[in-house]
Amino acid sequence: MKALSDYENLSHEELRERIQAVRDAAGERLAVFAHYYVVDEVVEIADFVGDSLALAKRAADSKAEALLFCGVHFMLETADILANRPEKVAARGGKEMIVMAPDMTAGCPMADMITAEQANAWKDALSELVDFSEFTPVSYVNSSAATKAFCGENGGAICTSANAKKVLSDAFAQRPKALFMPDSRLGRTTALDLGIKPEEIVVWDPRVKKPYGGLDPEAIKRARVILWDGFCPTHQRFSANFIQNLRKETPDAQVWVHPESQRAIVELSDGYGSTSKLLEVVDKAPAGSTLAIGTEWKLVQRMQKEHPDKTIIWPGDDPKICPNMTKATLWKVAWVLENWLEGTPVNVVKTEPQYVESAYLALKSLLN
Ligand code: SF4
Repeated sequence: MKALSDYENLSHEELRERIQAVRDAAGERLAVFAHYYVVDEVVEIADFVGDSLALAKRAADSKAEALLFCGVHFMLETADILANRPEKVAARGGKEMIVMAPDMTAGCPMADMITAEQANAWKDALSELVDFSEFTPVSYVNSSAATKAFCGENGGAICTSANAKKVLSDAFAQRPKALFMPDSRLGRTTALDLGIKPEEIVVWDPRVKKPYGGLDPEAIKRARVILWDGFCPTHQRFSANFIQNLRKETPDAQVWVHPESQRAIVELSDGYGSTSKLLEVVDKAPAGSTLAIGTEWKLVQRMQKEHPDKTIIWPGDDPKICPNMTKATLWKVAWVLENWLEGTPVNVVKTEPQYVESAYLALKSLLN
């Protein structure tokens, strides 16, 4: 097996050549996917770049035997579950897809804000007050396979920021109430967009040392949506003051943000949307436009490079990258690919078998 340390100091030029040599030898047996938030030099060598929804769908349909997925851990688990369904394995001539990570420590802090144990304890506590069968549990795709399995076991579903409105709407068609985890920001904005009244939405804080997540039992009984109080640290840095000042100084400026932003920021904006939607807004804006785009800073910097005819800014004073997404570097990519080609795969992500079936039940909502 090749050592990771042998790659760290290689030039980008040499790394690109070695990666290309693996790709030439592997042909269609290998696919490389990247999330929009990873560094530019990795985005440039990827076969496919997308947001969580697009990546999950593409993984489900990929015929490659090996997938190097440059993103964070929950994305690779999702790819493993979707790409290794029995019918997908049969279509690959009986071969399971190997899903590999450039760096096994690249996780998502938001996904880690709820565990399956916490989700089950949440269900038990709620069941003391309400009929739990009236709730559909919905989890953002930024969650572990175990949390997704909790949703599957309880008739729930998974959403991304691109399809949250549809998934929550489908949930209400099924049952009158919903739980939303782990992103309280996305959950609140989506519920309000569907016409749920603010007073029917409550937030369960797992950090308080009080019963029922610090909520009044009567409020829980009245609630139509109970949000788990998780959040993305990267998307909390946008500034209301900055947006208000921008509006005064540049009245024509457009402000668009990702729905992982706090509700107050969404309300100050012209619109919100998934990464794909934000890219579309920037693409369609006329030359000379000023746009404040509230999402991960590396992606905003790429937008700036690709649209030199527009002024694209970050809506705050302290631009923030996602530190986990930057862990996918070119030298780690080369190390993983060369080891795979030599028959000694490293950094293989395999979902724990006990979660696969139930997580898949919930994940079907991404494939519709
Ligand atoms: S940007 Fe936020 S939600 Fe996305 S992977 Fe990073 S920490 Fe998780």
